[in-house]
Amino acid sequence: MSGWLAVISALVLIAAAEAGQVPAKFEMPFTAKTKEQAIEWQKKARARLLDLVERQANRISTDEVALDVRSGEPKDMGDYTLYQQRFRGSNRTGVFYPLRLTIPKGKGPFPAMLCLHGHGGNKDAVFDPKGLYGGFADRFARGGYVVAAPSLPHHKYAAMTLWDLMRCVDILAERPEVDPKRIGVAGLSMGGEWTMWLAACDERLRVAVVSGWMCTTEGVFSVPNCACWCLPGFVELMDVCEVHLLIAPRPVLFESSEKDNCFPIRYTREGFARIRAGYKAFGAEDAVAQDIWDAGHEWHGAVAYGFVDKVLGGRSAGPSPGK
Ligand SMILES: [Zn+2]
Repeated sequence: MSGWLAVISALVLIAAAEAGQVPAKFEMPFTAKTKEQAIEWQKKARARLLDLVERQANRISTDEVALDVRSGEPKDMGDYTLYQQRFRGSNRTGVFYPLRLTIPKGKGPFPAMLCLHGHGGNKDAVFDPKGLYGGFADRFARGGYVVAAPSLPHHKYAAMTLWDLMRCVDILAERPEVDPKRIGVAGLSMGGEWTMWLAACDERLRVAVVSGWMCTTEGVFSVPNCACWCLPGFVELMDVCEVHLLIAPRPVLFESSEKDNCFPIRYTREGFARIRAGYKAFGAEDAVAQDIWDAGHEWHGAVAYGFVDKVLGGRSAGPSPGK
């Protein structure tokens, strides 16, 4: 392709994304047939995604801004101890974010889960058994996991939260009670999107539960959705469902409810079929699963707890009673 043709083609792709359309052609679609090709694609795709995020938000290393976690008094919650904390984010402005950290009773080291809220949610919502999160953070905490649940702000682009999410993993990995080789992440809605970005870009996460988010680009554009997923340069790069292939061969579960108004089920089924085919190229077809059930945009947990337990060796408390 000549230089001018390439420029015109790129402009057409950008215009398509701005108009909320699927690009006619992606820059880095997943086409690998062999494991070697798949690994090669993954390496390049991860570098490109990290670069796109960095263009919007500078990454600050812990060498520049050290981990700074401030803890409130411990509170006995029965099976675990709760600490209301604040941690300094990955920034130079000194902004702190609230965090719920729970430590199981008994002797560690324990597996750990990072539990992420969606639009309008916060660290407390993911512990509430009555809300759309089904108290999933509490269920992991009661099942012997160290749990970190931050309250993180909505940014123009959700991917800009990536560096603060990585800082949450730093916090977990540094805790003496945590086995750093057994850390996972789960999130609903925008929390599912954050889960995708984090697990795709940070290989310390050994397992991921993406709830109420995974879909094809066509599917996300097919209904009104917050545009915060449209990181500049990202929509043109690959179908959004293919970002989950950066998690391979690590296990990932998708929760896709049949009446999710944000992500129509036919597109989440298609997305899963594509992801499973991609995982097959990595030789890891068995590491992906999709939990489909009859409900709206909410956490389920019927498969998720056992899925995570199997990978991280925990013993989750299972779905909240009544869920
Ligand atoms: Zn948003």
